[in-house]
Amino acid sequence: MDLFDKLKELRQNGLDEIKKASDEKKLNEVRVELVGKKSELTNILHSMKEVAPEQRREVGQKVNEIRDLFNSHLNAAKDEILAKVIAKKMEEERIDVTLPGRKGHLGSKHPINIILDDLENFFIGMGYKVVQGPEVETDHYVFEMMNLPKDHPARDMQATFYIDDENLLRSQTSGDQARVLEKHDFSKGPLKMVGPGKVYRRDDDDATHSHQFMQMEGLVIDKNITMSDLKGTLELIAKHVFGQDREIRLRPSYFPFTEPSVEMDVSCFKCNGKGCAICKYTGWIEVLGAGMVHPNVLENAGVDSNVYGGFAFGLGLDRFAILKYGVTDIRDFYTNDVRFLEQFRKEED
Ligand SMILES: [Zn+2]
Repeated sequence: MDLFDKLKELRQNGLDEIKKASDEKKLNEVRVELVGKKSELTNILHSMKEVAPEQRREVGQKVNEIRDLFNSHLNAAKDEILAKVIAKKMEEERIDVTLPGRKGHLGSKHPINIILDDLENFFIGMGYKVVQGPEVETDHYVFEMMNLPKDHPARDMQATFYIDDENLLRSQTSGDQARVLEKHDFSKGPLKMVGPGKVYRRDDDDATHSHQFMQMEGLVIDKNITMSDLKGTLELIAKHVFGQDREIRLRPSYFPFTEPSVEMDVSCFKCNGKGCAICKYTGWIEVLGAGMVHPNVLENAGVDSNVYGGFAFGLGLDRFAILKYGVTDIRDFYTNDVRFLEQFRKEED
């Protein structure tokens, strides 16, 4: 083949290969092949002595021309490939600032905690301190300090989970009261406390019974505390939780740690006393137990019952939540079905 035809073919093939190179690596391979030290063009220059002398100048010019052409096409192709890479990267990392943000899924406060937090704030506002004790308690603090010696028949009122002879899952939060009471320094002022916490009873679970529930006990001890102080406090609790229009009534009751003892009913917030399913057509709903602290409880804690006295109350937070939110199955509080719990999410969440 004529050398000029060969150069022509070389030129065309080279340009085609540059066009086909799709990425930087391929393009570098093509560059080495077309204009590198071992390329066809370099070979032709090196074997110039085989070319007829009158053609050498023209061949040399042609070779340089083709090499310049290759170089400029190679550079243009390289720019094009780089531009594509950048464009692709930009597309992948594109941020559309006009898209609405993705909202994280927020949980909701447990209904019992809603009531608990609310009541704690309520009592703190009245000067009470909030005290918490152990859930695994001793028989001594749960029962004996509360005027329930080992042979006391009223122990049967609370079916208790015993761990051994002395330790148990507390069936009431009274142990917290006993612990605080025996340490309280009355020269520094009266004792006003609430003790919220989980308690356990050996009960078969159904819609209205649970082996665990939340209690909050309150204790106020000072000189000259009377039953009317208790009544006033209970009235405030009832109105705070169930509405300012509520009335209360106290019925005599029995607890080993208070004397006298009362049950408090609140006028039905659903029917306003006319009678409905919630109040079992009585117009009243039983909400808590209370009483004047038994002198034995004070003496057990080393407090002189001739000088000091006071009242105690215990309320079930589950019962409050059931009444307040119209929950029909107490088990919903601990089975933690998200569909149940989500209903208590506040609008602003
Ligand atoms: Zn009613």
